[in-house]
Amino acid sequence: MTLANVFFPSWSLFTSSLSINRWWATSECTVACMAMFTPSQTQMEPREQEPPSLSPALSIRWWSKETVAVVTGANKGIGFALVKKLAHLGLTVVLTARDAERGGQAAESLRAQGLVDVHFSVLDVSDPVSIDAFVSWFRNHFTALDILVNNAAVSFNDIHENSVDNAELVVKTNFYGSKLLTEALLPMFRRSPSIGRILNVSSRLGSVNKVRNPNMGRMLQGEDLTEEHIEAMVGSFLEDVRKGTWKSQGWPEVWTDYAVSKLALNAYTKVLATRYDGCGLSANCFCPGFTQTSMTGGKGTRTADEAAEVGAMIALLPPENLPTGKFFMGCNPVINSKL
Ligand code: NDP
Repeated sequence: MTLANVFFPSWSLFTSSLSINRWWATSECTVACMAMFTPSQTQMEPREQEPPSLSPALSIRWWSKETVAVVTGANKGIGFALVKKLAHLGLTVVLTARDAERGGQAAESLRAQGLVDVHFSVLDVSDPVSIDAFVSWFRNHFTALDILVNNAAVSFNDIHENSVDNAELVVKTNFYGSKLLTEALLPMFRRSPSIGRILNVSSRLGSVNKVRNPNMGRMLQGEDLTEEHIEAMVGSFLEDVRKGTWKSQGWPEVWTDYAVSKLALNAYTKVLATRYDGCGLSANCFCPGFTQTSMTGGKGTRTADEAAEVGAMIALLPPENLPTGKFFMGCNPVINSKL
């Protein structure tokens, strides 16, 4: 019995029945459902959460072809792998990408594999006009949304670099892009017992323990955290970048601009989860771990397909086991968070 079986027995049943490669269950790894920014948190790293309580009558496969998922930044990397996995599992998936040609080819390559329920639309999450156009397109093609995976992100640093030359674009894409798209799509979520799901692909580099400014840390962990606090934090970081003081203000030390963008995304997820608690909508974060994609220059301890397998598992948790406001860590016995 692995921890994955303990946390998600219904998923294990389901995946074994479909002969999916359960890499997280066959290694010694733990699929850890981590509490995010809990006020009582005393440890530096996110705290391991108690296993969700499991009902004996689990719905194993709650979704169907009518279940609609949107994945951003999905022309390559983890986003592409997630679209492929979700489509393989029988959902209707909208692959989005900022570049029409790259995105169209990616979607076509999946349809050519028989995944006919993969659709494509252009979406540049850093551009509010593109978000508006996408939401209109979505409304015209679908009646409702079940799953939103905010995956699109940028980083302009090689693994051991820490330039903030592109900090504004990093924050605009990774935090504001996900936030604006989420807010624009909120009215489209299906009201159903299966619960709407927002999965923000984040990073442990954006864990609150990476912030060395104690006031900032307290604010992020506070029960009264608001969107205004988060935007003020992001504004303060960008101001430090403009003034050239960002190194001495206690911001995360690794991939600082990217880490701040993910810190803000994690905090926003917590605010969203609180806002919709008990209202049929869950919001969680998922750190895929060090994954071989363009973002890491191909380095990493797992493939995009392996990371996507865990991401899909979290996105498809049975409604009765679906938490909200949690930070899920990718699973691997050798986790290396120094991207
Ligand atoms: P990739 O660089 O392979 O993929 C990033 C994707 O985001 C690309 O499709 C890219 O499109 C797209 N994108 C970038 N900017 C925009 C934009 N403005 N609008 C729409 N799409 C955009 O990276 P990964 O697959 O590794 O990253 C996926 C997610 O996983 C990210 O959120 C990342 O932060 C997270 N992550 C990754 C880790 C890793 O080790 N790889 C570790 C922890 C988290 P284009 O091809 O046009 O550039």
